[in-house]
Amino acid sequence: MTNRYLYFQPQYVSKFVCDGATCPNNCCRRNWNIEVDGETYARYASLKPELLDLLARDDATGKFYMRQHPCPLLTDGGLCRLQLEHGEEFLSLVCRTYPRQTFSFGKFFERSLSLTCPLAAQMILFTDEPLGFELVEVSEKVHGGKIILVDEMHVPESLFAHVVEIQIAMISILQRRTLTIDQRLIVLGFFLDRLDEIISGGVDFDALTKLIAAYESKKFLSEQVPRMFASVNFNAEEFSRRMTQVLANLRGEEFSSAGELLDFTAERKLFTARHATLMENFLVNEMFTNCVPWRNEATVAQNFGLFVAAYKVFELLAFAAYKQNLFVKSELLRLVDLLTSQTDNTTATRLNLLNLFAGDDMFSLLEIFLEGRFKSDGTVDAPRRCD
Ligand code: SF4
Repeated sequence: MTNRYLYFQPQYVSKFVCDGATCPNNCCRRNWNIEVDGETYARYASLKPELLDLLARDDATGKFYMRQHPCPLLTDGGLCRLQLEHGEEFLSLVCRTYPRQTFSFGKFFERSLSLTCPLAAQMILFTDEPLGFELVEVSEKVHGGKIILVDEMHVPESLFAHVVEIQIAMISILQRRTLTIDQRLIVLGFFLDRLDEIISGGVDFDALTKLIAAYESKKFLSEQVPRMFASVNFNAEEFSRRMTQVLANLRGEEFSSAGELLDFTAERKLFTARHATLMENFLVNEMFTNCVPWRNEATVAQNFGLFVAAYKVFELLAFAAYKQNLFVKSELLRLVDLLTSQTDNTTATRLNLLNLFAGDDMFSLLEIFLEGRFKSDGTVDAPRRCD
């Protein structure tokens, strides 16, 4: 009998098929370090030693990488010669799993796709229906045996059994379409702040169950949520200052030109309201793929700050594309790749951005980045006292 493994994943994962022949941005052509893991290295050494000439060793880490870009094993038709001749099993771990991102939670796994792959990003960003999620059982072959790529994350082990219900609550906040995107993020910030209290110093399971139930209750949503928006006083000046710092940590002239639009607040917000589904899909995928708020070894508030700041950059890039009459799918795919390859996949950039939020608590992050009183019709509720 073959082993079966339990996965929680967006439904799109099962539908994704890599198609190197039609892909507009073939990952094997890019200037990325393609690591060849130890097990694959040993296989090449015994079965196809001539492949070792294509590898270079990084003296600092001892790891082996493909020496050249684009990958020398790529055929003219955009396919992998190794895979064509020897099957998928012959590929290195990275080549076999990309763009899938897998996390292990002991008894189950989570898997999603990176927005740096254009075919995946197209499936994720441009769908009108809210992204659906599923629990599936997969066989040993799909699971990948011992060699699945498990990324780093910092979920307390005592919380593993509750991760899925917490994530379902977070996804449902981000997909609450009666609210603006900023409002959903404010609700998420309050949720995470309380979650942080509940899990620090040992998980209070009773309080956790109550928290999740509260955020699903109609009474809570109609009474407490408007108070959250009223209590957050967006600080436009501080927003511009912090966004300028965030943009300065990202490579590409697109980021500096987008920064010139920071003062177009009202127009940008109306633009976001018109394209809320695109923004929602970006957020839901980034939240799940980055295991927010536990991807990085930092506070819950810092992880949230990185998540919201990356989203605000995406919003700004999309708005800049719109202002330049470039608001088309191919350009958005290029921009989302440019952004997430740095914010998600470049450790040094992630750490620099996290450091920007080292002194902030959750509430100050909400006031820096989010405006709860702005409504999708362009009107703004007057400030009022939060009682
Ligand atoms: S970028 Fe995505 S679709 Fe393109 S070759 Fe790589 S995995 Fe396949």
